[in-house]
Amino acid sequence: MRELIEKMPKVELHLHIEGSLEPELMFQLAKRNNIDLPYSSVEEVRAAYDFGNLQDFLDIYYAGCKVLIHEQDFYDLTYAYLKKAAEQNVMHTEMFFDPQTHTERGIELETVAKGICKAAKAAKEDFGISSLTILSFLRHLSEEAAIATLKAALPMKDKFIAVGLDSSEVGNPPQKFQKVYQMAGEEGFLKVAHAGEEGPAQYIWDSLNLLKIDRLDHGNRAMDDEDLLKELKQRKMGLTLCPLSNRKLQVVKDLKDHPVKKMLNKGLKATVNSDDPAYFGGYMNENFIAITEALNLSKRDLFQLTSNAIEVSFVNADRKADMMHKLNKWMKA
Ligand SMILES: [Zn+2]
Repeated sequence: MRELIEKMPKVELHLHIEGSLEPELMFQLAKRNNIDLPYSSVEEVRAAYDFGNLQDFLDIYYAGCKVLIHEQDFYDLTYAYLKKAAEQNVMHTEMFFDPQTHTERGIELETVAKGICKAAKAAKEDFGISSLTILSFLRHLSEEAAIATLKAALPMKDKFIAVGLDSSEVGNPPQKFQKVYQMAGEEGFLKVAHAGEEGPAQYIWDSLNLLKIDRLDHGNRAMDDEDLLKELKQRKMGLTLCPLSNRKLQVVKDLKDHPVKKMLNKGLKATVNSDDPAYFGGYMNENFIAITEALNLSKRDLFQLTSNAIEVSFVNADRKADMMHKLNKWMKA
């Protein structure tokens, strides 16, 4: 099964580029930019990645982001992720980045965006992997700050396919961002939002009805609400689930309790993704292998998960057909 998974052509739709910062690169960039890290070796950073709760994760995630200063740093970060993804037979990926994590430190949005987009272009040429970028608002900050971020991004809006919403969910409900989502829609952005990871099913309803999302990130808690499950199915709404992230952040106690298989059985457009792979213990292959072992997924389930990801991705019909062709070839082999 492991070899089958490694060979499967994949699509990743839920990936935070800042969350792909491996300790080795963190150290390298810290040295290059003369930044003091609270760790003395790569081993120490790796040990710190073995956090036990959300706050410890956020602490080290933030420390990690401080090494990202110049366009070249964002380029190196993005290129390293895309190279790794291509090695794992990821055909296409849609990457989040959090402008506010950087602009709050005085880094220009343009610096971040240029580095990411140049790396995406280079990786397409070097490895054939296609990618899109999603500009994500930090929901623990105000809607005014999100609006300022959106406005700053408008001169570069062709660089981003969608807006997203991440960071601490509970206490920061979707309605807080209704206005900025409406503005983003009017500017032609597609819309996604994290909802129902820690927050209740109501946050998913509100993301659908108030933010008018085109795709749902996580969505685990939809399982609490039969009517919501029906609604998601009827809308053919994509759900970007992240098994290893869910286990690490205790959204599920054990992967055996993960809802992805039940969602497939209910006809939902569930997908498997890595979220913050450097921090949560693995990229696409590791996520697929772990969830396949835990839930005893079949080759048909794996096919369905990836065909869902192709269907709910934001690429055009030609690229979707091309990826479906590759997936069908794998299925028949
Ligand atoms: Zn996420």
